Amino acid sequence: MFKNTVIFATVLMVAFSVTGCNSAPAEQTKNHPNPLLLISIDGFINEYIERNNTPNFGRFLTDAVHAEYLIPAFPTKTFPTHWTVVTGLHTENHGIISNSFYDYELEARFSFGPPDESPNDERWWGGEPIWITAEKQGLTAATFFWPGSEATINGVQSTKWVDYDGSIPDSTRIDSVMAWMNPEGDVRADFGTLYFSFVDSRGHSYGPNSPEVDQAVIEMDGLLGYLLDSIEENNLGGLINVILTSDHGMAELSDDKIIFLDDMIDLNDVDMVDWTPVAMIKPHDGRTDEIYNAIKAHEENFRVYLRDELPERFHFRNHYRIPEIIMIADVGYTITSRPFFEQRGIPAGNHGFDNLAPEMLTFFAANGPDFRTGERSAAFESVHIYELMAYLLNLNPAPNDGSLEEVRMLLQEY
Ligand code: AMP
Ligand code: ZN
Ligand code: ZN
Repeated sequence: MFKNTVIFATVLMVAFSVTGCNSAPAEQTKNHPNPLLLISIDGFINEYIERNNTPNFGRFLTDAVHAEYLIPAFPTKTFPTHWTVVTGLHTENHGIISNSFYDYELEARFSFGPPDESPNDERWWGGEPIWITAEKQGLTAATFFWPGSEATINGVQSTKWVDYDGSIPDSTRIDSVMAWMNPEGDVRADFGTLYFSFVDSRGHSYGPNSPEVDQAVIEMDGLLGYLLDSIEENNLGGLINVILTSDHGMAELSDDKIIFLDDMIDLNDVDMVDWTPVAMIKPHDGRTDEIYNAIKAHEENFRVYLRDELPERFHFRNHYRIPEIIMIADVGYTITSRPFFEQRGIPAGNHGFDNLAPEMLTFFAANGPDFRTGERSAAFESVHIYELMAYLLNLNPAPNDGSLEEVRMLLQEY
């Protein structure tokens, strides 16, 4: 508990030292970029490799720069956080406000699960992801999964992209991206992505401290070994820059940590844009103050805010999709209704909480010719990764909220 408080204070200091919006082009120093591979292991944290035997992570980290931790975007859900990494935009500026949310202008719900399948309608996605910046400036991108990679952005897509299908084996994803990035192959992609979901899924089903998650971490270590061998086999050894990162952590939930919203308000008086652990509430008929006051009267194990009073550090006010009232559950708590809870229960683990909560902090390490070697770096916010990638690929970044200066310490020539 005390340790967590200290980490939390450090995180606050890091977050507040971050400079503001910067859309100036990064300083360009290289003529031809080294290929860059961006990998996400969903729901992965440093502690997972500290408490397990992971020789291939060891192999990767020996020559890598490894951040103390990465501060994800808010809310710490898969789609907003991944989209911040590839656009350099805070959530309020890219508009992917959760994994599932209703848009009153489009009169539609954004949702990645069946029956909606991949959300490939470009009206949802604000900003320019790095693979589009790359394609527009003459490079070749190959994305074997990344949230948003199936959508066209201003009519452009990666040269190689694949509709999301979680059943495609992880080794097949690696084989394809490596073949596409092989400098002696047909595609010779300059930029690639890979995405692995099973550590996160295991965390939801069994909780972050379970033997099942440990088993998933060991499987992930084997997969990383397979990738590192494949890099050599595909003529990329010593050439490729690899960013190995994640989108958020994972917190243990509990049946006795439930916040019943229907005990505080009549759910018929509101629309729920999203539920938990960040409840996004749109009151009917301008009844915002009345509904807010009713929830505020029960403010225990969560915080409730009017949208315009949300702490600035969440960067979660200024988008029309964000409704008037926002509740944020304390870590480990679930916001639900009695009927839903009785029917469906809750998973063992979840994320989405405050992005500075220690449990939500996540993993970042990078290895390759342009990165420093064998060092720990200070923590930083994921919003800067887009500027870093644009610099590594010798691209002029699209306007964004990140700053290369915040991540320059990762680079070799720093
Ligand atoms: P979460 O519910 O936030 O834990 O999200 C993780 C889940 O997102 C994964 O298990 C996948 O089912 C899903 N997912 C990840 N990437 C995509 C994608 N590009 N398209 C559709 N679903 C995805
Ligand atoms: Zn995730
Ligand atoms: Zn998840």
